[in-house]
Amino acid sequence: MIVWRDEHTTLFRSALYETVSTVIATKDCVIVVDPCWLPHEVEEIRQYSDSIKGERPLYLLFTHSDYDHIIGYQAFPEAKVIASQAFADKSGEKKEDIIEQIKAFDDEYYVTRSYEIVYPEVDIPIEGDGKSFSVGGTTLTFFQAPGHNADGLFTIIEPLGILVAGDYFSDLEFPYIYVSSHEYEKSISKLDTILEKYSIRMLVTGHGNPTREYAEIKKRQQDSFDYIRAMRKLIQEKDVEGISLLIEGCKFPRNMKKFHYNNQLLFEKEFIEMGLPIGGVNKGQE
Ligand SMILES: [Zn+2]
Repeated sequence: MIVWRDEHTTLFRSALYETVSTVIATKDCVIVVDPCWLPHEVEEIRQYSDSIKGERPLYLLFTHSDYDHIIGYQAFPEAKVIASQAFADKSGEKKEDIIEQIKAFDDEYYVTRSYEIVYPEVDIPIEGDGKSFSVGGTTLTFFQAPGHNADGLFTIIEPLGILVAGDYFSDLEFPYIYVSSHEYEKSISKLDTILEKYSIRMLVTGHGNPTREYAEIKKRQQDSFDYIRAMRKLIQEKDVEGISLLIEGCKFPRNMKKFHYNNQLLFEKEFIEMGLPIGGVNKGQE
């Protein structure tokens, strides 16, 4: 599963959805991010972190609560869990929905796991922007990132200069927006502050490929802004054709067009809520 490895950072890519799990080792601690998906994949990440850990404390960082990202939680029972305050404060009902999604996935594919499926208990909940948390010489600094879902978190790990972004800035996926396009824009705008204040040497995304190129990081941010602005304009212009062309060339079109269509519905709902007219409501398009 390993797709990237250097002295401190190892990236694992699942066979499913090109989902990336990260293991970061500093002299002070080991941080595992979003270990997923399949039992043998979670096991590989578990064994790897055990093999390098030594006496260092283990932290489990969740970028957000989408079920694919928390599916491996109980394979790391001794880890201290870091996630956003919103992740921790989710209602019991919403937590139950997420657990149900994992159980439905496992039933669908007859998947058996060696650990229990439960919603993560957060030991270190993170509120606000720019808050830091240090273990020895390792510092994690956080920015809230709602929009994709309601509880995303950007994490900067210093002194390594790694930005863990969850489901933003992917080179594989256009913005998948479940909560709010306006929140989404605000979250991706925070990248400017982050790049200004911190020396970012690597961007790790939840799906697709990491990058170490500053220009590529900026390009991905711009691509997300462009997608959102184009979608709004095309909806107002009733340009059904233009909307489908917007994701032309995407890697997995049969699945991705569903996410694109759901985005369209969300944008239309936002227009209605703001009292703005919308055109091109092409119901029935999937
Ligand atoms: Zn994801």
